[in-house]
Amino acid sequence: MTTNGAGGIWVVAEQVAGRINSVSYELLNKAQQLKNQLQKPEPVVAVILGKGAEGLEQLSNYGAEEIITVFAEELEIYQNDLYVAVLQALIEEKKPSIVLIGATAIGQDLAPMLGARLKTGVAAHCVDVRINENNQMVAVVPAFGGKVLGDILCPNTSPQMATLKPGVLGKPVPLEKPAAVVTAFDPSAVLQEDQGRIKALEIVREEQTGVPLEEAEVIVAGGWGIGSRENWDLVEELARLLGGAVGCTRPVVDEQWVQSEQQMIGTSGKSVRPKVYLAFGISGATHHLCGMKDSGLVISVNKDATAPIFEASDVRIVGDARTILTALIKRIKG
Ligand SMILES: Cc1cc2nc3c(=O)[nH]c(=O)nc-3n(C[C@H](O)[C@H](O)[C@H](O)COP(=O)(O)OP(=O)(O)OC[C@H]3O[C@@H](n4cnc5c(N)ncnc54)[C@H](O)[C@@H]3O)c2cc1C
Repeated sequence: MTTNGAGGIWVVAEQVAGRINSVSYELLNKAQQLKNQLQKPEPVVAVILGKGAEGLEQLSNYGAEEIITVFAEELEIYQNDLYVAVLQALIEEKKPSIVLIGATAIGQDLAPMLGARLKTGVAAHCVDVRINENNQMVAVVPAFGGKVLGDILCPNTSPQMATLKPGVLGKPVPLEKPAAVVTAFDPSAVLQEDQGRIKALEIVREEQTGVPLEEAEVIVAGGWGIGSRENWDLVEELARLLGGAVGCTRPVVDEQWVQSEQQMIGTSGKSVRPKVYLAFGISGATHHLCGMKDSGLVISVNKDATAPIFEASDVRIVGDARTILTALIKRIKG
């Protein structure tokens, strides 16, 4: 699409098994903020695809003024080509100027293909969006290994699209506003044309062991400074003793000291808000800080007194991670 959008700030609301993902509410809150920053406010619209969804009124409570439902049997489980075809048709017809999508597993798969079909840009993994003095959306993305925050604009094509990580915008708040108008879009013509090359058959959930990161009150996180797989056992032991969850940075995933990328915290990982966050051997790159900045008490251990993590910490310990982990474990065990 190369024409200017006729208007509307759209949020692609995500549902799995009929349950709406809370990132949709975070994006709707943000869409309302964007609306207030625009020189000429545009309506905030939630679009939801699926077979049906529970609690549509929640989309209204968090900021949707209009809800477009696109319900069909074929859309029950997310499928890239079908969802892209339907959204493309809808966006080409209604011409929103902004489209926000959660940077979830589904959103990260959907957004680039949709952007390519619409011949417009997508700013991925943003940590914020705002409207500038030229009435354009500015997408804020960590750059250069997370050392700086870059502003991305999409001035020549429409819609302006961005994906935002769940949790980076903070806890969504219900807004006092009139109930949204709900309209239905019939996707049958698009679905007949585009039958989809792949068919998703069912959703199988991975079994989780231990305390889930998102729910943990205490997180013991380690970074590259832990030094070895052997030392990593100390991080896990301390987390166990404190009844907490284990988090990590990107290099720890790359080194395979943890079993799953699900333990990574940051822009490409999870956003967490524990009461206590203990960081061992973590430098504090923006990509990581973005995922833990809303933690309560942050205690960091780093051998480098100038490590950026210390700027985001309440308690700063300059020292060797292994030595301090060992001492803490010994003390707790008595
Ligand atoms: C697009 C993109 C997305 C990314 N997403 C993420 C993400 O989601 N999450 C994430 O974490 N990273 C992410 N990264 C990587 C990120 O930019 C950093 O490279 C990473 O967070 C650094 O991890 P670290 O702090 O463990 O390692 P380093 O930056 O190498 O820091 C290691 C720290 O350990 C300290 N240290 C060394 N030895 C010891 C010791 N014996 N005792 C105590 N301290 C010691 C050092 O002083 C140093 O500060 C992303 C990068 C890109 C480009």
